[in-house]
Amino acid sequence: MAYVRTILTDNHPTLRKVAKKVDVDEIREPLFQQLIDDMFATMYAAPGIGLAAPQIDVGKRLFVVDLQDEDPSHGPLVIINPKFTVTEGELESIEGCLSVPGFIGDVTRFERVVCAGLDRHGRRISVEGTADLFSRCLQHEMDHLDGVLYVDKAKNVRPALTEEEVAEAEAPAI
Ligand code: ZN
Repeated sequence: MAYVRTILTDNHPTLRKVAKKVDVDEIREPLFQQLIDDMFATMYAAPGIGLAAPQIDVGKRLFVVDLQDEDPSHGPLVIINPKFTVTEGELESIEGCLSVPGFIGDVTRFERVVCAGLDRHGRRISVEGTADLFSRCLQHEMDHLDGVLYVDKAKNVRPALTEEEVAEAEAPAI
């Protein structure tokens, strides 16, 4: 059974802390597995396409992503202790965040990233995002693990006013 947890907003102190690396032995513990399930449930309930543990007040280095609606090639994914092994290029696009509700901004990100880490069984995984929402999402979530919010990097942070902007702020909320 997974539980929807509260998503922190308003610069809550946990959102601003560098999250701690997860001990590999901890991954198989029921409480940690529950955390992963709860993160997915919380992300889907928001609804959002990505969620990092600090957003639900857990200072550990993991995040979940699911872009199935926008990009069927990137379904449910959890990455523990993620690291970028490749970062290339630059691309600017609009972002929103579940922890900064009602706003959007223009953020310049790497165009292509390769992200390595562990899956929920503690196995090594590596995923690649190339000039797409997935690439942006990985970088946005990684920032959450370092206490960084997109508004720190964004230009022209603005309230989402038009219906289109509200959709932009909510749909790709990460
Ligand atoms: Zn976010």
